[in-house]
Amino acid sequence: MAQIIKYYSTNHNSEFVNFREALLQGQAPDKGLYLPDRIPKISLKTIVSMKTLSYPEIAFIVTNEFLRDEIPEDDLKKITKEAYDFDIPLENVIGKIYIMRLDQGPTASFKDFAARMMTRLIEYFIKKENKNLLISERSEESRFCERSEQVLILVATSGDTGSAVANAFYNLKNIKVVVLFPGKEVSERQRKQMTTLGKNITVLAVNGKFDDCQAMVKQAFADPELSYLNLSSANSINFGRLLPQIVYYFYAYSKLAKKGEEVIFSVPSGNFGNLMGGLIAKKMGLPVYKFIAAVNENDEFPKFLETKNYIPIKPSKVCPSSAMNVGHPSNLARLINLYGGQMDEKGKINKMPDVDLIKKDIFSVSISNDETIKTIKKVYDRYKVVLEPHGAVGWTALESFLLKEGKSFLSVCLETAHPAKFPEEIEEIIGLKIKSPKSLSGIENKKEDFKTIPADYQEFKTFLENKF
Ligand SMILES: *Cc1c(COP(=O)(O)O)cnc(C)c1O
Repeated sequence: MAQIIKYYSTNHNSEFVNFREALLQGQAPDKGLYLPDRIPKISLKTIVSMKTLSYPEIAFIVTNEFLRDEIPEDDLKKITKEAYDFDIPLENVIGKIYIMRLDQGPTASFKDFAARMMTRLIEYFIKKENKNLLISERSEESRFCERSEQVLILVATSGDTGSAVANAFYNLKNIKVVVLFPGKEVSERQRKQMTTLGKNITVLAVNGKFDDCQAMVKQAFADPELSYLNLSSANSINFGRLLPQIVYYFYAYSKLAKKGEEVIFSVPSGNFGNLMGGLIAKKMGLPVYKFIAAVNENDEFPKFLETKNYIPIKPSKVCPSSAMNVGHPSNLARLINLYGGQMDEKGKINKMPDVDLIKKDIFSVSISNDETIKTIKKVYDRYKVVLEPHGAVGWTALESFLLKEGKSFLSVCLETAHPAKFPEEIEEIIGLKIKSPKSLSGIENKKEDFKTIPADYQEFKTFLENKF
Protein backbone atom coordinates (compact mmCIF):
# COMPACT_ATOMS: atom_id res chain seq x y z
CA MET A 1 0.00 0.00 0.00
CA ALA A 2 1.24 3.42 -0.93
CA GLN A 3 1.62 5.90 1.85
CA ILE A 4 -1.19 8.36 2.58
CA ILE A 5 -0.74 11.68 0.80
CA LYS A 6 -0.36 14.68 3.08
CA TYR A 7 -0.31 18.34 2.15
CA TYR A 8 2.40 20.77 3.23
CA SER A 9 2.59 24.53 2.96
CA THR A 10 4.98 26.16 0.49
CA ASN A 11 6.02 28.47 3.35
CA HIS A 12 6.96 25.42 5.47
CA ASN A 13 5.52 26.90 8.67
CA SER A 14 2.24 25.01 8.95
CA GLU A 15 1.30 21.50 9.97
CA PHE A 16 0.83 18.84 7.32
CA VAL A 17 -2.88 18.28 6.64
CA ASN A 18 -4.99 15.82 4.71
CA PHE A 19 -6.91 16.68 1.56
CA ARG A 20 -10.12 17.53 3.38
CA GLU A 21 -8.39 20.17 5.49
CA ALA A 22 -6.44 21.58 2.55
CA LEU A 23 -9.73 21.89 0.68
CA LEU A 24 -11.71 23.49 3.49
CA GLN A 25 -8.93 25.83 4.60
CA GLY A 26 -7.93 26.92 1.11
CA GLN A 27 -4.75 28.63 2.20
CA ALA A 28 -2.33 27.35 4.83
CA PRO A 29 -2.24 29.32 8.13
CA ASP A 30 1.28 30.57 7.31
CA LYS A 31 -0.09 32.08 4.06
CA GLY A 32 1.61 29.42 1.99
CA LEU A 33 -0.16 27.18 -0.51
CA TYR A 34 -0.73 23.49 0.00
CA LEU A 35 1.03 20.90 -2.14
CA PRO A 36 0.95 17.10 -1.86
CA ASP A 37 4.07 15.61 -0.25
CA ARG A 38 4.04 12.84 -2.83
CA ILE A 39 2.82 12.89 -6.40
CA PRO A 40 1.21 9.58 -7.33
CA LYS A 41 2.07 7.92 -10.64
CA ILE A 42 -0.17 6.66 -13.41
CA SER A 43 1.38 4.10 -15.76
CA LEU A 44 1.54 4.61 -19.52
CA LYS A 45 -0.56 1.48 -19.88
CA THR A 46 -3.35 3.01 -17.78
CA ILE A 47 -3.05 6.29 -19.70
CA VAL A 48 -3.39 4.48 -23.03
CA SER A 49 -6.41 2.58 -21.71
CA MET A 50 -8.18 5.89 -21.13
CA LYS A 51 -8.64 6.22 -24.89
CA THR A 52 -12.00 4.49 -24.75
CA LEU A 53 -13.17 6.01 -21.46
CA SER A 54 -15.52 8.92 -20.86
CA TYR A 55 -14.35 12.14 -19.24
CA PRO A 56 -15.98 11.33 -15.86
CA GLU A 57 -14.28 7.93 -15.88
CA ILE A 58 -10.88 9.48 -16.57
CA ALA A 59 -11.55 12.11 -13.90
CA PHE A 60 -12.26 9.34 -11.43
CA ILE A 61 -9.03 7.45 -12.19
CA VAL A 62 -6.86 10.57 -11.92
CA THR A 63 -8.40 12.15 -8.82
CA ASN A 64 -8.79 8.84 -7.02
CA GLU A 65 -4.99 8.67 -6.90
CA PHE A 66 -5.15 11.62 -4.50
CA LEU A 67 -8.45 10.96 -2.75
CA ARG A 68 -8.61 7.21 -2.16
CA ASP A 69 -7.82 7.55 1.53
CA GLU A 70 -10.55 10.09 2.12
CA ILE A 71 -13.43 9.41 -0.26
CA PRO A 72 -14.89 5.98 -1.03
CA GLU A 73 -14.71 5.06 -4.73
CA ASP A 74 -18.45 4.99 -5.29
CA ASP A 75 -18.88 8.46 -3.84
CA LEU A 76 -16.07 9.82 -5.98
CA LYS A 77 -17.48 8.20 -9.11
CA LYS A 78 -20.80 9.87 -8.42
CA ILE A 79 -19.09 13.24 -7.97
CA THR A 80 -17.17 13.06 -11.26
CA LYS A 81 -20.22 11.82 -13.13
CA GLU A 82 -22.37 14.69 -11.92
CA ALA A 83 -19.68 17.32 -12.37
CA TYR A 84 -18.87 16.50 -15.99
CA ASP A 85 -22.00 16.31 -18.05
CA PHE A 86 -20.78 18.46 -20.96
CA ASP A 87 -18.59 18.01 -24.08
CA ILE A 88 -14.85 18.56 -24.33
CA PRO A 89 -14.24 19.01 -28.07
CA LEU A 90 -10.76 18.34 -29.47
CA GLU A 91 -10.75 20.27 -32.71
CA ASN A 92 -8.12 19.57 -35.35
CA VAL A 93 -6.96 22.86 -36.87
CA ILE A 94 -4.08 21.86 -39.14
CA GLY A 95 -1.57 19.01 -39.24
CA LYS A 96 -1.05 17.72 -35.71
CA ILE A 97 -2.30 20.89 -34.01
CA TYR A 98 -5.49 20.72 -31.98
CA ILE A 99 -7.60 23.07 -29.94
CA MET A 100 -9.12 21.62 -26.79
CA ARG A 101 -12.27 23.60 -26.08
CA LEU A 102 -12.74 23.80 -22.33
CA ASP A 103 -15.64 26.21 -22.72
CA GLN A 104 -18.72 24.01 -22.86
CA GLY A 105 -19.58 24.05 -19.17
CA PRO A 106 -22.43 26.05 -17.63
CA THR A 107 -20.51 29.33 -17.41
CA ALA A 108 -18.52 28.86 -20.62
CA SER A 109 -14.96 28.97 -19.29
CA PHE A 110 -12.47 26.31 -18.23
CA LYS A 111 -13.08 27.38 -14.62
CA ASP A 112 -16.17 25.15 -14.69
CA PHE A 113 -13.93 22.06 -14.64
CA ALA A 114 -12.48 22.98 -11.28
CA ALA A 115 -15.51 24.71 -9.81
CA ARG A 116 -17.95 21.91 -10.50
CA MET A 117 -15.80 19.25 -8.90
CA MET A 118 -14.48 21.36 -6.06
CA THR A 119 -17.93 22.46 -4.94
CA ARG A 120 -19.10 18.87 -4.90
CA LEU A 121 -16.08 17.87 -2.84
CA ILE A 122 -16.74 20.65 -0.31
CA GLU A 123 -20.41 19.74 -0.16
CA TYR A 124 -19.46 16.09 0.29
CA PHE A 125 -17.27 16.76 3.33
CA ILE A 126 -19.71 19.22 4.92
CA LYS A 127 -22.65 16.88 4.53
CA LYS A 128 -20.67 14.05 6.01
CA GLU A 129 -19.73 16.18 9.00
CA ASN A 130 -23.26 17.43 9.55
CA LYS A 131 -24.46 13.86 9.50
CA ASN A 132 -21.87 12.91 12.11
CA LEU A 133 -22.82 15.92 14.16
CA LEU A 134 -26.46 14.99 13.95
CA ILE A 135 -25.75 11.46 15.06
CA SER A 136 -23.59 12.50 18.00
CA GLU A 137 -26.14 15.05 19.16
CA ARG A 138 -28.95 12.57 18.87
CA SER A 139 -27.08 10.16 20.99
CA GLU A 140 -26.93 12.87 23.64
CA GLU A 141 -30.69 13.06 23.21
CA SER A 142 -30.75 16.62 22.11
CA ARG A 143 -33.81 16.89 19.98
CA PHE A 144 -33.20 20.34 18.61
CA CYS A 145 -30.30 20.07 16.35
CA GLU A 146 -29.86 23.45 14.72
CA ARG A 147 -26.11 23.48 14.70
CA SER A 148 -24.41 22.63 11.51
CA GLU A 149 -21.17 23.27 9.74
CA GLN A 150 -21.30 26.32 7.52
CA VAL A 151 -18.62 27.67 5.26
CA LEU A 152 -18.17 31.01 3.63
CA ILE A 153 -16.33 30.78 0.36
CA LEU A 154 -14.37 33.87 -0.64
CA VAL A 155 -13.41 34.14 -4.23
CA ALA A 156 -11.45 36.80 -6.10
CA THR A 157 -12.09 36.71 -9.80
CA SER A 158 -10.59 38.22 -12.90
CA GLY A 159 -13.86 37.44 -14.63
CA ASP A 160 -14.54 33.74 -14.97
CA THR A 161 -13.85 32.08 -11.63
CA GLY A 162 -16.55 34.13 -9.95
CA SER A 163 -19.33 32.95 -12.20
CA ALA A 164 -18.11 29.35 -12.36
CA VAL A 165 -17.93 29.08 -8.55
CA ALA A 166 -21.13 31.01 -7.96
CA ASN A 167 -22.96 28.86 -10.46
CA ALA A 168 -21.64 25.65 -8.94
CA PHE A 169 -22.53 26.67 -5.35
CA TYR A 170 -25.77 28.44 -6.21
CA ASN A 171 -28.64 27.59 -3.88
CA LEU A 172 -26.69 25.08 -1.78
CA LYS A 173 -27.46 24.92 1.92
CA ASN A 174 -24.73 25.68 4.45
CA ILE A 175 -22.47 27.30 1.87
CA LYS A 176 -22.34 31.02 1.19
CA VAL A 177 -20.20 32.69 -1.43
CA VAL A 178 -18.71 36.18 -1.64
CA VAL A 179 -17.20 37.13 -4.99
CA LEU A 180 -14.81 40.06 -5.45
CA PHE A 181 -14.07 41.33 -8.95
CA PRO A 182 -12.11 44.29 -10.35
CA GLY A 183 -15.00 46.67 -11.10
CA LYS A 184 -13.70 47.96 -14.37
CA GLU A 185 -11.97 44.92 -15.83
CA VAL A 186 -14.60 42.32 -16.52
CA SER A 187 -16.88 42.27 -19.54
CA GLU A 188 -20.55 43.12 -19.08
CA ARG A 189 -21.48 39.56 -19.80
CA GLN A 190 -19.01 38.19 -17.28
CA ARG A 191 -20.37 40.60 -14.66
CA LYS A 192 -23.96 39.66 -15.30
CA GLN A 193 -23.13 35.98 -14.98
CA MET A 194 -22.31 36.70 -11.33
CA THR A 195 -24.57 39.57 -10.34
CA THR A 196 -27.90 38.16 -11.51
CA LEU A 197 -27.86 35.08 -9.27
CA GLY A 198 -28.64 36.37 -5.76
CA LYS A 199 -29.63 33.99 -2.91
CA ASN A 200 -26.44 32.63 -1.25
CA ILE A 201 -24.19 34.54 -3.69
CA THR A 202 -22.94 38.03 -2.70
CA VAL A 203 -21.01 40.04 -5.27
CA LEU A 204 -18.61 42.93 -4.61
CA ALA A 205 -17.14 45.18 -7.30
CA VAL A 206 -13.75 46.38 -6.07
CA ASN A 207 -12.36 49.71 -7.19
CA GLY A 208 -9.05 48.18 -8.08
CA LYS A 209 -7.28 45.34 -9.84
CA PHE A 210 -7.61 41.59 -9.66
CA ASP A 211 -4.38 41.55 -7.63
CA ASP A 212 -6.11 43.81 -5.05
CA CYS A 213 -9.07 41.44 -4.83
CA GLN A 214 -6.73 38.49 -4.40
CA ALA A 215 -4.75 40.28 -1.68
CA MET A 216 -7.93 41.19 0.26
CA VAL A 217 -9.14 37.61 0.17
CA LYS A 218 -5.78 36.29 1.34
CA GLN A 219 -5.68 38.78 4.18
CA ALA A 220 -9.13 37.71 5.33
CA PHE A 221 -7.94 34.09 5.56
CA ALA A 222 -5.05 35.07 7.74
CA ASP A 223 -7.22 37.28 10.00
CA PRO A 224 -8.00 35.48 13.29
CA GLU A 225 -10.93 37.82 13.94
CA LEU A 226 -12.71 36.32 10.95
CA SER A 227 -12.05 32.71 11.84
CA TYR A 228 -15.63 32.43 13.16
CA LEU A 229 -16.78 32.61 9.53
CA ASN A 230 -15.16 29.31 8.51
CA LEU A 231 -13.64 30.93 5.49
CA SER A 232 -12.51 28.92 2.55
CA SER A 233 -11.20 29.82 -0.84
CA ALA A 234 -12.36 28.84 -4.27
CA ASN A 235 -9.38 30.46 -5.93
CA SER A 236 -6.58 28.43 -7.33
CA ILE A 237 -4.72 28.96 -4.08
CA ASN A 238 -6.96 26.03 -3.08
CA PHE A 239 -5.50 22.67 -3.99
CA GLY A 240 -9.08 21.50 -4.53
CA ARG A 241 -9.13 23.77 -7.57
CA LEU A 242 -5.95 22.35 -9.03
CA LEU A 243 -6.82 18.71 -8.66
CA PRO A 244 -9.62 18.68 -11.28
CA GLN A 245 -7.39 20.69 -13.61
CA ILE A 246 -4.97 17.78 -13.89
CA VAL A 247 -7.56 15.64 -15.60
CA TYR A 248 -8.03 17.21 -19.03
CA TYR A 249 -4.35 16.83 -19.84
CA PHE A 250 -4.74 13.06 -19.46
CA TYR A 251 -7.96 13.19 -21.43
CA ALA A 252 -6.42 15.03 -24.41
CA TYR A 253 -3.34 12.84 -24.40
CA SER A 254 -5.24 9.59 -24.31
CA LYS A 255 -7.53 10.61 -27.14
CA LEU A 256 -4.87 12.03 -29.46
CA ALA A 257 -1.40 10.62 -28.83
CA LYS A 258 0.22 7.39 -29.93
CA LYS A 259 1.54 5.35 -27.02
CA GLY A 260 4.44 7.22 -25.45
CA GLU A 261 4.36 10.08 -27.98
CA GLU A 262 5.41 13.39 -26.45
CA VAL A 263 2.99 16.28 -26.76
CA ILE A 264 3.02 20.03 -26.35
CA PHE A 265 0.33 21.83 -24.38
CA SER A 266 -0.10 25.56 -24.79
CA VAL A 267 -1.74 27.06 -21.72
CA PRO A 268 -3.07 30.65 -21.65
CA SER A 269 -1.93 31.66 -18.17
CA GLY A 270 -2.84 34.26 -15.56
CA ASN A 271 -2.68 32.92 -12.02
CA PHE A 272 -0.92 29.76 -13.28
CA GLY A 273 -3.44 27.32 -11.80
CA ASN A 274 -4.18 25.75 -15.16
CA LEU A 275 -0.48 25.29 -15.85
CA MET A 276 0.04 23.77 -12.39
CA GLY A 277 -2.55 21.12 -13.25
CA GLY A 278 -0.47 20.28 -16.31
CA LEU A 279 2.82 20.20 -14.44
CA ILE A 280 1.36 17.79 -11.90
CA ALA A 281 0.01 15.62 -14.74
CA LYS A 282 3.54 15.43 -16.14
CA LYS A 283 4.93 14.48 -12.73
CA MET A 284 2.29 11.75 -12.57
CA GLY A 285 3.73 10.27 -15.73
CA LEU A 286 2.07 12.00 -18.68
CA PRO A 287 4.54 12.21 -21.60
CA VAL A 288 4.74 15.97 -22.20
CA TYR A 289 7.53 17.43 -24.29
CA LYS A 290 6.84 21.02 -23.33
CA PHE A 291 4.30 23.26 -21.66
CA ILE A 292 3.91 26.67 -23.14
CA ALA A 293 3.06 29.24 -20.49
CA ALA A 294 1.44 31.82 -22.72
CA VAL A 295 0.96 35.18 -21.02
CA ASN A 296 -0.36 38.53 -22.20
CA GLU A 297 1.51 41.79 -21.64
CA ASN A 298 1.79 40.91 -17.96
CA ASP A 299 5.16 39.31 -18.59
CA GLU A 300 6.62 38.87 -15.09
CA PHE A 301 7.06 35.12 -15.55
CA PRO A 302 8.89 34.96 -18.92
CA LYS A 303 11.05 37.84 -17.66
CA PHE A 304 11.87 35.82 -14.56
CA LEU A 305 12.93 32.81 -16.61
CA GLU A 306 15.15 35.07 -18.67
CA THR A 307 16.74 37.10 -15.87
CA LYS A 308 16.18 34.99 -12.70
CA ASN A 309 14.85 38.18 -11.22
CA TYR A 310 11.16 38.16 -10.27
CA ILE A 311 9.41 41.51 -10.35
CA PRO A 312 5.61 41.54 -9.95
CA ILE A 313 3.83 43.98 -12.25
CA LYS A 314 1.89 46.50 -10.24
CA PRO A 315 -0.64 47.57 -11.31
CA SER A 316 -1.21 44.79 -13.80
CA LYS A 317 -1.64 45.75 -17.45
CA VAL A 318 -5.06 45.81 -19.06
CA CYS A 319 -5.26 43.35 -21.96
CA PRO A 320 -8.08 41.88 -24.07
CA SER A 321 -7.41 38.51 -22.39
CA SER A 322 -8.69 40.10 -19.18
CA ALA A 323 -8.80 36.91 -17.10
CA MET A 324 -5.01 36.82 -17.45
CA ASN A 325 -4.36 40.34 -16.19
CA VAL A 326 -2.36 39.12 -13.23
CA GLY A 327 0.76 40.92 -12.10
CA HIS A 328 1.71 38.42 -9.41
CA PRO A 329 0.36 34.91 -10.00
CA SER A 330 -0.38 33.03 -6.76
CA ASN A 331 0.60 29.69 -8.13
CA LEU A 332 4.18 30.71 -8.79
CA ALA A 333 4.75 29.84 -5.13
CA ARG A 334 3.82 26.26 -6.02
CA LEU A 335 5.69 26.21 -9.31
CA ILE A 336 8.89 27.49 -7.71
CA ASN A 337 8.47 24.89 -4.98
CA LEU A 338 8.05 22.09 -7.52
CA TYR A 339 11.50 22.99 -8.88
CA GLY A 340 13.27 23.09 -5.55
CA GLY A 341 12.90 26.78 -4.65
CA GLN A 342 10.86 28.80 -2.18
CA MET A 343 8.78 31.90 -2.85
CA ASP A 344 6.72 33.60 -0.17
CA GLU A 345 3.23 35.04 -0.61
CA LYS A 346 4.58 38.45 -1.55
CA GLY A 347 6.67 37.04 -4.37
CA LYS A 348 9.99 37.17 -2.58
CA ILE A 349 12.22 34.29 -3.61
CA ASN A 350 14.01 32.94 -0.55
CA LYS A 351 15.52 30.01 -2.38
CA MET A 352 16.17 30.01 -6.10
CA PRO A 353 14.59 27.09 -7.97
CA ASP A 354 16.42 25.20 -10.70
CA VAL A 355 15.57 27.64 -13.49
CA ASP A 356 17.24 25.51 -16.17
CA LEU A 357 14.99 22.61 -15.24
CA ILE A 358 11.94 24.90 -15.37
CA LYS A 359 13.00 25.99 -18.84
CA LYS A 360 13.37 22.39 -19.89
CA ASP A 361 9.70 21.79 -19.07
CA ILE A 362 8.23 25.21 -19.79
CA PHE A 363 8.61 27.72 -22.58
CA SER A 364 7.07 31.04 -21.62
CA VAL A 365 6.38 33.98 -23.87
CA SER A 366 4.47 37.24 -23.61
CA ILE A 367 2.04 38.06 -26.42
CA SER A 368 1.17 41.69 -27.09
CA ASN A 369 -2.39 42.97 -27.36
CA ASP A 370 -1.77 43.76 -30.99
CA GLU A 371 -0.59 40.21 -31.79
CA THR A 372 -3.57 38.78 -29.90
CA ILE A 373 -6.04 40.65 -32.11
CA LYS A 374 -4.11 39.79 -35.29
CA THR A 375 -4.14 36.10 -34.38
CA ILE A 376 -7.91 36.04 -33.92
CA LYS A 377 -8.26 37.47 -37.42
CA LYS A 378 -5.58 35.29 -39.01
CA VAL A 379 -6.80 32.01 -37.53
CA TYR A 380 -10.32 32.77 -38.65
CA ASP A 381 -9.26 33.80 -42.16
CA ARG A 382 -7.02 30.75 -42.61
CA TYR A 383 -8.85 27.96 -40.83
CA LYS A 384 -12.34 29.32 -40.14
CA VAL A 385 -11.66 28.63 -36.47
CA VAL A 386 -12.93 31.19 -33.95
CA LEU A 387 -10.63 31.99 -31.05
CA GLU A 388 -11.32 34.41 -28.22
CA PRO A 389 -8.55 36.58 -26.71
CA HIS A 390 -7.26 34.05 -24.13
CA GLY A 391 -7.05 31.20 -26.60
CA ALA A 392 -5.46 33.55 -29.11
CA VAL A 393 -2.63 34.28 -26.67
CA GLY A 394 -2.12 30.51 -26.34
CA TRP A 395 -2.21 29.98 -30.10
CA THR A 396 0.27 32.77 -30.86
CA ALA A 397 2.67 31.43 -28.23
CA LEU A 398 2.40 27.92 -29.67
CA GLU A 399 3.16 29.20 -33.17
CA SER A 400 6.21 31.05 -31.95
CA PHE A 401 7.48 27.95 -30.15
CA LEU A 402 6.95 25.62 -33.12
CA LEU A 403 8.69 28.11 -35.39
CA LYS A 404 11.65 28.22 -33.03
CA GLU A 405 11.85 24.40 -32.80
CA GLY A 406 11.45 24.03 -36.58
CA LYS A 407 9.79 20.64 -36.09
CA SER A 408 6.22 19.43 -35.93
CA PHE A 409 4.78 18.04 -32.72
CA LEU A 410 1.42 16.82 -31.61
CA SER A 411 0.24 20.06 -30.01
CA VAL A 412 -2.82 20.94 -28.00
CA CYS A 413 -3.78 24.54 -27.48
CA LEU A 414 -6.20 25.06 -24.59
CA GLU A 415 -9.13 27.36 -25.42
CA THR A 416 -10.18 28.57 -21.98
CA ALA A 417 -13.33 30.58 -22.70
CA HIS A 418 -16.19 30.59 -25.17
CA PRO A 419 -15.99 33.31 -27.84
CA ALA A 420 -19.55 34.31 -26.91
CA LYS A 421 -18.18 35.73 -23.66
CA PHE A 422 -16.59 38.48 -25.75
CA PRO A 423 -19.14 39.03 -28.51
CA GLU A 424 -18.45 42.71 -29.30
CA GLU A 425 -14.69 42.30 -29.41
CA ILE A 426 -14.81 39.31 -31.71
CA GLU A 427 -17.44 40.76 -34.00
CA GLU A 428 -15.27 43.83 -34.41
CA ILE A 429 -12.22 41.75 -35.38
CA ILE A 430 -13.70 39.15 -37.71
CA GLY A 431 -17.12 40.59 -38.48
CA LEU A 432 -18.88 37.49 -37.26
CA LYS A 433 -21.86 37.50 -34.93
CA ILE A 434 -21.15 34.90 -32.26
CA LYS A 435 -24.09 32.79 -31.28
CA SER A 436 -24.51 32.42 -27.54
CA PRO A 437 -24.58 28.95 -26.06
CA LYS A 438 -27.74 28.24 -24.08
CA SER A 439 -25.95 28.82 -20.82
CA LEU A 440 -25.24 32.46 -21.64
CA SER A 441 -28.51 33.50 -23.19
CA GLY A 442 -31.21 35.25 -21.23
CA ILE A 443 -28.99 36.98 -18.66
CA GLU A 444 -29.17 40.35 -20.44
CA ASN A 445 -32.53 41.22 -18.97
CA LYS A 446 -32.08 39.82 -15.49
CA LYS A 447 -31.76 42.17 -12.55
CA GLU A 448 -28.24 42.75 -11.23
CA ASP A 449 -27.31 43.04 -7.58
CA PHE A 450 -23.85 44.01 -6.36
CA LYS A 451 -22.10 46.47 -4.10
CA THR A 452 -19.04 48.56 -4.91
CA ILE A 453 -16.23 48.84 -2.35
CA PRO A 454 -12.77 50.43 -2.40
CA ALA A 455 -9.65 48.25 -2.59
CA ASP A 456 -9.31 48.46 1.17
CA TYR A 457 -9.09 45.48 3.50
CA GLN A 458 -10.75 47.20 6.49
CA GLU A 459 -13.83 48.08 4.45
CA PHE A 460 -14.04 44.54 3.19
CA LYS A 461 -13.68 43.13 6.69
CA THR A 462 -16.38 45.40 8.07
CA PHE A 463 -18.67 44.36 5.27
CA LEU A 464 -18.16 40.69 6.09
CA GLU A 465 -18.64 41.23 9.84
CA ASN A 466 -21.85 43.14 9.31
CA LYS A 467 -23.32 40.75 6.83
CA PHE A 468 -22.42 37.37 8.34
C1 LIG B 1 -8.73 32.14 -15.37
C2 LIG B 1 -8.55 32.16 -16.83
C3 LIG B 1 -7.29 32.00 -17.43
C4 LIG B 1 -6.03 31.89 -16.61
O1 LIG B 1 -5.97 30.67 -15.92
P1 LIG B 1 -4.96 30.51 -14.67
O2 LIG B 1 -5.23 29.19 -14.14
O3 LIG B 1 -5.31 31.61 -13.73
O4 LIG B 1 -3.59 30.68 -15.24
C5 LIG B 1 -7.20 31.95 -18.80
N1 LIG B 1 -8.30 32.08 -19.56
C6 LIG B 1 -9.53 32.25 -19.04
C7 LIG B 1 -10.68 32.42 -19.95
C8 LIG B 1 -9.70 32.29 -17.67
O5 LIG B 1 -10.92 32.46 -17.15
